[in-house]
Amino acid sequence: MVFIHDTQRSLAAAAHLVNTLPGFDDEDALTSGEDLEAFLSAHPYTGAIRRDEAELEALRGIRSRLRRLWEVDREHAVPLVNDMLRDGHALPRLVIHDGFDWHVHATSDDAPLATRILVETAMAFVDVIRSDQYDRIRLCSADDCDSVYVDFSKNGSKRYCDTGNCGNRMNVIAYRRRKARGTV
Ligand SMILES: [Zn+2]
Ligand SMILES: [Zn+2]
Repeated sequence: MVFIHDTQRSLAAAAHLVNTLPGFDDEDALTSGEDLEAFLSAHPYTGAIRRDEAELEALRGIRSRLRRLWEVDREHAVPLVNDMLRDGHALPRLVIHDGFDWHVHATSDDAPLATRILVETAMAFVDVIRSDQYDRIRLCSADDCDSVYVDFSKNGSKRYCDTGNCGNRMNVIAYRRRKARGTV
């Protein structure tokens, strides 16, 4: 595993949340209670979850801020991460619950969900930065996709996001180009 389990989980959740932003040709995928449920069932959170309008708005509101982490390099991520920790009043402590092994919570369980996700993402990026693995924080290589992902593969060779079918789609396009050129 490239990152420790809770870091990996937090990064995956943050990437999912960022990818609900409207992209090149897809629509905003976090506009309703149903969308929120889909996100929460993919990434279960303990602690207070209100499932109301304000919570949905707050989650929608942190997405661009989280996305910035995918648009900068390691050095420029540092102030962003530090700001998130400060704004979320992060106070790390070790906890164990619900079948997870010991891991870090840096907010109280009754802090707003958006604050918890902001801080949890920042804590995960602390790990990414400290372990010098920022090159695994990536934007999809497909021409027509701007989704984000984190490369958890062993050899760091993942090129496409998980949201669409980008790898297959780009392979088909490349094959057609080669075929048109008569090189297949
Ligand atoms: Zn936990
Ligand atoms: Zn993609």
